[in-house]
Amino acid sequence: MSNLESNLKKFESFKRGLSWSAIKKALQSGGCPICNIVEKSTEKYIEFLLRECPSDAEVHKRNLKSMGFCKRHSNQLKEIESSAGSDGLNIAAIYETVISREIKNFERVEDLLNSDSQNILKVKSSLKWKKRKIIESLSTSDECFICKNEAKTALFYVHEIIKIAADEEFREVFSGSDALFCRNHFILLISEIKDENNLKYFVDSHSKKILQIQNNLRSFIKKHNYQNTEELTEEEKSAVEILLNYFGS
Ligand SMILES: [Zn+2]
Ligand SMILES: [Zn+2]
Repeated sequence: MSNLESNLKKFESFKRGLSWSAIKKALQSGGCPICNIVEKSTEKYIEFLLRECPSDAEVHKRNLKSMGFCKRHSNQLKEIESSAGSDGLNIAAIYETVISREIKNFERVEDLLNSDSQNILKVKSSLKWKKRKIIESLSTSDECFICKNEAKTALFYVHEIIKIAADEEFREVFSGSDALFCRNHFILLISEIKDENNLKYFVDSHSKKILQIQNNLRSFIKKHNYQNTEELTEEEKSAVEILLNYFGS
């Protein structure tokens, strides 16, 4: 079993062991509880990848499928690598196979372009054909595997929340906190719910919270009128950030 696979197993058991208190903490941190958990979990995952897996065969295999990580996770890799005091050596090792594959891709593309004059069929010399072949050579078969891992983590915790959604304690914390599922995770939550009462609870509580955002935004804008002398409240000050977290998921 590769280092990555064995760690993923440990990771799964870590997630299963995560108690109500961790979900509670994510709810009380404000914003989307799923985003909060995914963010922390990804940070740990990237730290592990960089520390333990730069030469792990499974990491290389997965990273080749997407030809590297997405922009967001590339930035996060850079940040975590540098905050661990490394100059990028671990990232360089993870990307060794990707850059080799890219060289091969371009060799293939060059061959295609150079063999053009020997093509008897006219179709193979058309610009359209060349472009299609180049794009085919560079296309990937999968998305960034950290993104895939995030999607799995999100689904896992959505299920965990659904399991406890009818508990009084959960409802008390959720309704009384600034927790607000982001739009995408709210849709995910709704798609996984199998109980009418839970469905109604989440829709109702979310509607209330969204209405509150609108009220805060309106008074935030209104108070920017030059005639206004009233101070902004804390809720109004954070209204834009809450708005962006909700829609920018
Ligand atoms: Zn979210
Ligand atoms: Zn990604």
